[in-house]
Amino acid sequence: MPATADRYPANMGMGQARAELLPKMYGPELVEAFREFKSIWDPQWKMNPGKVVDPYPLDTNLRVGPGYQPRKVETYFQFPEDKGNFALATERCFGVGKCRGLNGDTMCPSFKATREEMHTTRGRAHLLFEMMRGDVLANGWRDEHVKESLDLCLACKGCKSDCPVSVDMATYKAEFLAHYYKGRIRPRQAYAMGLISNWARLASLAPGLANFLSHAPLLGQIAKTMSGISPKREIPAFAPETFKAWFKQRARAAVAGGDLSAVASAKADDPGLRGSAQRAATGVNAAGYSSAVNTRVLLWPDTFWRMPDARWRFRSAFSVAVVHSTITGC
Ligand code: SF4
Repeated sequence: MPATADRYPANMGMGQARAELLPKMYGPELVEAFREFKSIWDPQWKMNPGKVVDPYPLDTNLRVGPGYQPRKVETYFQFPEDKGNFALATERCFGVGKCRGLNGDTMCPSFKATREEMHTTRGRAHLLFEMMRGDVLANGWRDEHVKESLDLCLACKGCKSDCPVSVDMATYKAEFLAHYYKGRIRPRQAYAMGLISNWARLASLAPGLANFLSHAPLLGQIAKTMSGISPKREIPAFAPETFKAWFKQRARAAVAGGDLSAVASAKADDPGLRGSAQRAATGVNAAGYSSAVNTRVLLWPDTFWRMPDARWRFRSAFSVAVVHSTITGC
């Protein structure tokens, strides 16, 4: 057996890819013995040809040939780890299939539920790759196969941490859907949940009335149907006062040792976040810091499909944070 440098791994398809180099590892006599052995048992050379003996050359049957140039497209996200190229990001997956695992990992819940390849991180990555290549899937950002595969992606980011090459399907999904829906009417859930900040602000004018209407038997059902909420779920009740109002009334705690302020980002009128925001503000104050409210952030999943809107909100919120830190000196 030659030195370690001349040994070749043979898992995950590497054996096939490097079989041409096997004579270097085993020596020509041994490979010839493989040939004689195979000839005895498979004289017509039908079983698994082109693998160990007379293997396919290294540069054949490649997914992308040496002349492949990843397509450059305008994207909303930067993809800095993939040279700013979405096509390169879709090439990250090399098919190891960890996303098909049924163990305790987060990745991939949609596969765990469906057991379908198209609902794995790998299946989605390959479809996006084909979309970017444009041979098999020729409809680009409007391709329904890709859309169908991404539909069940929960954007949980499990793959970002569990996948060995950190495929970030949640980001790819947001990028794809932003293009897919550009200039189109979105699903009704997008208007109901994606614009929850607007509805909540409206409801905060008369939360009692909003709660009465949304929980009335017939009107409640109509509201759920229109907004795409399961009939089995309750529409969350709006709080009697908004977090913003609560925050304003509350005297800000004196800064004990006092040179640090925290900017709490919360959607002030969102009933779901109000309790968490209150606890966050109370906790920050209890730790001896002052708190301020930045109400301009709303990173609701659907907002990402409206990228210009999401960008504006983020920049706006960020500028508030910068102004706050300039004023407070931190
Ligand atoms: S983000 Fe999507 S693809 Fe990734 S683990 Fe979650 S459900 Fe699966």
